[in-house]
Amino acid sequence: MTAKHPALIDKFGREINYARISITDRCDFRCVYCMSENMTFEPRSELLSLEEILQIGSSLSELGVRKLRITGGEPLVRKNVMWLFERLGKLPNIRDLTITTNGSQLSKMARALAESGVTRINVSLDSLQADRFKAITRIGDLGKVLDGIHAAVEAGFKRVKINAVIMKGRNDDEITDLVEFSRNSGVDVCFIEEMPLGNTSNHDRREAYCSSDEVRRNIEVQYPLIATTVNTGGPSRYYRMADSESRIGFISPHSHNFCESCNRVRITAKGLMLLCLGQEHSVDLRQVMRESNNDPLALAAAIQRGIEIKPKGHDFNLNEQPIIMRHMSVTGG
Ligand code: SAM
Ligand code: SF4
Repeated sequence: MTAKHPALIDKFGREINYARISITDRCDFRCVYCMSENMTFEPRSELLSLEEILQIGSSLSELGVRKLRITGGEPLVRKNVMWLFERLGKLPNIRDLTITTNGSQLSKMARALAESGVTRINVSLDSLQADRFKAITRIGDLGKVLDGIHAAVEAGFKRVKINAVIMKGRNDDEITDLVEFSRNSGVDVCFIEEMPLGNTSNHDRREAYCSSDEVRRNIEVQYPLIATTVNTGGPSRYYRMADSESRIGFISPHSHNFCESCNRVRITAKGLMLLCLGQEHSVDLRQVMRESNNDPLALAAAIQRGIEIKPKGHDFNLNEQPIIMRHMSVTGG
């Protein structure tokens, strides 16, 4: 590693150039696959301050990270979040500053996000039927989220992407509707296989499992899919349709394991750097920052130590109780 071209390389030779940072474990929804009905959130004093998040983002970027995704929980419910985006948007080495949001706050924030330097937005949308959307999110208002998606497109964001977790018996009959929505709204759509992270109430993951191949077959009844080599730096595999600009992506942790090309780490809202979505290997960056009085060298060394223990991959098994007890909202999806 040279100082001029730093890189974070793990012991399997994978270059880590992408970090997902969860800035809050709180959310204004309670999606059935993500949270249980009654969640206990971390006391606010346990969370990284916005300044600490910026310091981590800055350190990662100096070490070779080029893409940051800000997520949660719901990132746009964090107080003063624009302060953070305005600063992350100015980090010189970051080429892609993206967010994943449930869209509930987007209609009022999309323009400011575009101006702050956010480059891309993913919005979760699992159903286009208002009553179903409410049942899946336990709280959400579909109209507000659709307004938010349109506001993001109007604010000038390119390739806004819809994320949909497809579940048997809940929304697997809406796959084509979601594709139609993406075609008509000028956005991309990505279909995700549900992962066994944390316990969820009133939801059986094994029963709900719907493989990406099944989703794909369903789409191809109407729209034949053409494979592409598009790589947005994450785990999605992308396809296109002959007569539309919209892309169709698949994230398939069960059926098409993507660990071999993993280029990511995650930072939880408490500052734990997780080296794998499906394992517990971690380094406590908050502790390092607070004990070293925010010494940038100590933080950089801790990040490098973390990369050394990045495991080979996850061992998700839907037939067993989840071995990873932290919810996706804590993990930073
Ligand atoms: N609240 C924001 C949102 O919903 O977009 C950001 C955080 S959410 C945890 C990030 C993504 O993780 C969402 O697209 C959501 O659908 C996905 N997700 C949550 N729990 C999941 C699970 N158990 N398996 C697969 N995807 C999950
Ligand atoms: Fe909240 Fe996103 Fe989890 Fe839904 S998926 S409960 S919106 S964090």
